[in-house]
Amino acid sequence: MTIINCDNNNKKNDDDKNIILDKSVNFFQSILEKILIPRSVNSAGHETVRQYIKNTLRDLNSRWHIEEDVFRTRTPAGQVKFQNIIATYVPEFGCIRSKSSLKRTILACHYDSLKSSLVKGHNNTDINQVERFTGATDAAVSCSMMIYLAYTMNDHLEKHWLHHFNSNRTIQLNTLQLIFFDGEEIIRSEQNALRRNKRRYKSKSPQSDSLFGSKHLANKWEKITNKIHEQRKRFATLANMTNMKRSSRYLLCDGQDSISAKQRLIDIQNENQNKKKNGKITEVLIISPQDYHTIDGIQLFILFDLIGGSGSPRFYNTNLNTSQHFQQLIQIEKSYLQFNNEKKTAKSMSGGSNKVFFQQNPAFMVSFVRDDHLPFVIRNVPALHLIPHPFPRTWHSMDDNVDNLNFNSIGRFTNIMQLFLLNFFRPI
Ligand SMILES: [Zn+2]
Repeated sequence: MTIINCDNNNKKNDDDKNIILDKSVNFFQSILEKILIPRSVNSAGHETVRQYIKNTLRDLNSRWHIEEDVFRTRTPAGQVKFQNIIATYVPEFGCIRSKSSLKRTILACHYDSLKSSLVKGHNNTDINQVERFTGATDAAVSCSMMIYLAYTMNDHLEKHWLHHFNSNRTIQLNTLQLIFFDGEEIIRSEQNALRRNKRRYKSKSPQSDSLFGSKHLANKWEKITNKIHEQRKRFATLANMTNMKRSSRYLLCDGQDSISAKQRLIDIQNENQNKKKNGKITEVLIISPQDYHTIDGIQLFILFDLIGGSGSPRFYNTNLNTSQHFQQLIQIEKSYLQFNNEKKTAKSMSGGSNKVFFQQNPAFMVSFVRDDHLPFVIRNVPALHLIPHPFPRTWHSMDDNVDNLNFNSIGRFTNIMQLFLLNFFRPI
């Protein structure tokens, strides 16, 4: 397998704007090679990729908490087991007013691939055929990019939290969470798939035949959120009745090292005493992974799909409540292109890659694309659905493979996303 270099510019840049894909291009390619295998739900490749994603994220930094959301549900192919992967950057320390002020930004995509028997133009009637569809844009590139972004954001996230911790201010804090959804693609029994012969499968009820992972997780997190709200209401009533005073500020701890958190609390209180400050931090608040399982704690949900196809992709925003974030992507791309135009040689920018990706919306832009963001959007989560319009020409065909990826465009898209996240998690 040959993967083209992601970087179309001079590699010897010393400027911050070219931080990404310069030093670490091999890392990105090595991730993609591991994920670019057939990985339809519950296949051997699916298991391999899931383990690979979990292990790679675990190895990035000990602060990434990796978990699986495993469930079984009814599908047209009977009961099927699905496994979403969730990775959360859990800061060691921070100062927050309450658990409810703990927010997170989610990057998401799906890691399952479409069954080869459901791919466009497929005419093999042998149900024991070897799976061949690798779903390069759908969504191996997105998975690789998310792992890559987690890798590049490690140090920055640490500084982000440390800064807040040392500044002794209580503000709304935000961390990064990655979700790799399972079961985004349609599931269908092999018999039904064969019956359709050469026609591409179109589900009669796609609402019950895809998006299994995102539907399950959004529903689960909504229930957890409702339960927490109930508990808070009860606590508030109790506090009123007994005139209990709640601490105004907490030291946040991930629970892995509560002894050092308690020691840190004593240090802070001593420091404050010495400086004659009002020691506001009064308690250590242990954070568990469940505290990152709420719907209302999601500050922004960014879904990637069909990234990396040939040609110049165009992205539009169809969710009004995230237009400020999309405008920011437009601005970042603008300065990124300006910067590269100054640096580039005429030769290095070929293939129309200078066209703008992030577009101002046409007046009547409405998206009817069913994707993993929908179960969250209907629960009022602010979402950016980053999928190109139109879809890549290779969509759901055997041509959606490494040979038809556009690595210049992948490089630029990843750069823009990293700059966006750096800005999002900048110390305030
Ligand atoms: Zn697909």
